[in-house]
Amino acid sequence: MDTVILKGKDVSSRIKDNLAVQISNLKLKGIIPCLAAIIVGKNPASKLYVNSKAKTFKNMNCNSEIFTLDSDIDEKDLLLIIEKINNDTKFHGILVQLPLPKHLNEEKILEKIKPEKDVDGFHPKNQGYLMQGNPSFIPCTPYGCLKILEYYNIDTNGKNIVVIGRSNIVGKPIASLLSQNTKYGNGTVTLCHSRTNNLSDFTKKADIIVAAVGIPNLIKKDMIKDGAHIIDVGINRIDDTSKDKGYRVVGDVDFDNVLDKVSSITPVPGGVGVMTVTMLLSNTVKAAFNQIK
Ligand code: NAD
Repeated sequence: MDTVILKGKDVSSRIKDNLAVQISNLKLKGIIPCLAAIIVGKNPASKLYVNSKAKTFKNMNCNSEIFTLDSDIDEKDLLLIIEKINNDTKFHGILVQLPLPKHLNEEKILEKIKPEKDVDGFHPKNQGYLMQGNPSFIPCTPYGCLKILEYYNIDTNGKNIVVIGRSNIVGKPIASLLSQNTKYGNGTVTLCHSRTNNLSDFTKKADIIVAAVGIPNLIKKDMIKDGAHIIDVGINRIDDTSKDKGYRVVGDVDFDNVLDKVSSITPVPGGVGVMTVTMLLSNTVKAAFNQIK
């Protein structure tokens, strides 16, 4: 079977071309979309993610400011910083890079972000709008998955879709979006998770699988049906002494193992991950337009 590799870079390029026009239009009005990225502590992966987001913004002639805070910052001090950014008209979007140190209440912090600036789409108000089928800001990774399906014309209408993983940032929103009565929805969605008995009973029936688990190479050939489409959200590091870094990054789906059985699949890296940053930019541009008085 000729398998289509669903390349995030190609999808992202098209979206960025479109965003470039919108960014120029904003510039004519004297507005440069600007993101405030808050990072607490020195988690190297978080730092890497935030730096890559800042780089994308710069390359697209947008601004970003990184707020690097001590890992032992008081919750009330962090809330005050968010309050300040909420009220600063220079910033159109705010993101708090997760995970946060244990002493900070993640829900409380995310709820503090002004919904109009919540470009990650994690505020309960925005998650509520999404659940009701009227999303304001779609969380960036689920949004990126939808854009991949759209770009490659993968029809979701009436299809059996299995989403694996029920996190608030990926699994739950993507399951909701794919089941709604929209052009990228109307799927019959099953949400599987860590307590699902016999995962492969579900995955074997799926026309489309969205894997967002965090277990390297969990999904193998014998768990999927012929011709399935695979969106692999997982980003997992596994030891690899042949690499200078000592590791390589793989998804939740065993790419090489399933390749000749699937119709299409996102690679890791090079699939969904690329899209996440692009959709953050897209949400920030949208926020900048929304904030024009
Ligand atoms: P999470 O840890 O919050 O959730 C993982 C989910 O997997 C849970 O809901 C759990 O019930 C489920 N799960 C665990 N073991 C399972 C099993 N054996 N069978 C079925 N389900 C199981 O994770 P998350 O934040 O949603 O992230 C999931 C993966 O996606 C991670 O690898 C993460 O790094 C990656 N991720 C990638 C991007 C991106 O931009 N591509 C963005 C966010 C997360």
